[in-house]
Amino acid sequence: MSRIAYVNGRYVQHGDAAVHIEDRGYQFADGVYEVVTVVNGRLVDEDPHLDRLWRSLGELRIDVPMSRASMKAVTREIIRRNRLKTGLVYMQVTRGVARRDHPFPKPGTPPAMVMTVKHMRLPGRAKIEEGVKVISIKDIRWERCDIKTVGLLPNILGKQQAREAGATEAWQVDEDGMVTEGTSTNAWIITKEGELVTRPATNDILNGITRLRILKIAEAHGVKFVERPFSLDEALQAREAFISSATSFVTPVTQINDTVIGNGRAGTLSLSLRDWYDEFMAGLKESA
Ligand code: PLP
Repeated sequence: MSRIAYVNGRYVQHGDAAVHIEDRGYQFADGVYEVVTVVNGRLVDEDPHLDRLWRSLGELRIDVPMSRASMKAVTREIIRRNRLKTGLVYMQVTRGVARRDHPFPKPGTPPAMVMTVKHMRLPGRAKIEEGVKVISIKDIRWERCDIKTVGLLPNILGKQQAREAGATEAWQVDEDGMVTEGTSTNAWIITKEGELVTRPATNDILNGITRLRILKIAEAHGVKFVERPFSLDEALQAREAFISSATSFVTPVTQINDTVIGNGRAGTLSLSLRDWYDEFMAGLKESA
């Protein structure tokens, strides 16, 4: 089936979709993005994702490309045109097209917006129970990791390093030896005492929409949690660990570097959180 992309007001064949060579996203990574998951035709946490997109735009003083209602309409249309049942919607907004120069272009330069979809097959239970390996790397990013910008070079280098080490993700570690987050996921541990721990949402991490949902789910199920930084050493001694994101949901971690976590299989609380997250998605009402 042919893929359709949305580019600045038009729906075009994916292969023909293009932006200008002086788009500031292309030249300066001067743009932001969001990834919203669709499961069985339902958008997962669409509003919080749009809230964060609006926030990212505001922090960088990029104009909004359209109203929220229009954004939702385009989202539904691209899902419909691609017959997307389960997968993701990628939305990107840049500061638009202008002659290459560092300062912002003149006021009124329209932001550029593209939207694409990707079909996705969700992993089966056996794969989830197997868990994934993560490696640790130095966090070399800037001080505004709370903004979801398309400037992802450190994340890309880190993810590639993980791939080359046979791992799924790389946990970034700050100068104090504390884990910030993965390259495209948030990082979690469950301590020997059974406490669920994740780093607080400051400028050091992207405040994952999945992260926020998991905290709500944990609260609803009476799971004790604390938002505090944890060190790589603490993670290596944790009872369980997992990563979270819009596309990986709750994915158990069973190895960090050369250290096996727990008994080398997904931990029980991690699996419960995964089940509860799956239940939350199954219960979503709003159809795309
Ligand atoms: N941290 C980083 C650096 C990310 O890029 C992402 C997602 O892309 C996340 C965390 C998880 O965020 P979310 O749960 O909103 O997908």
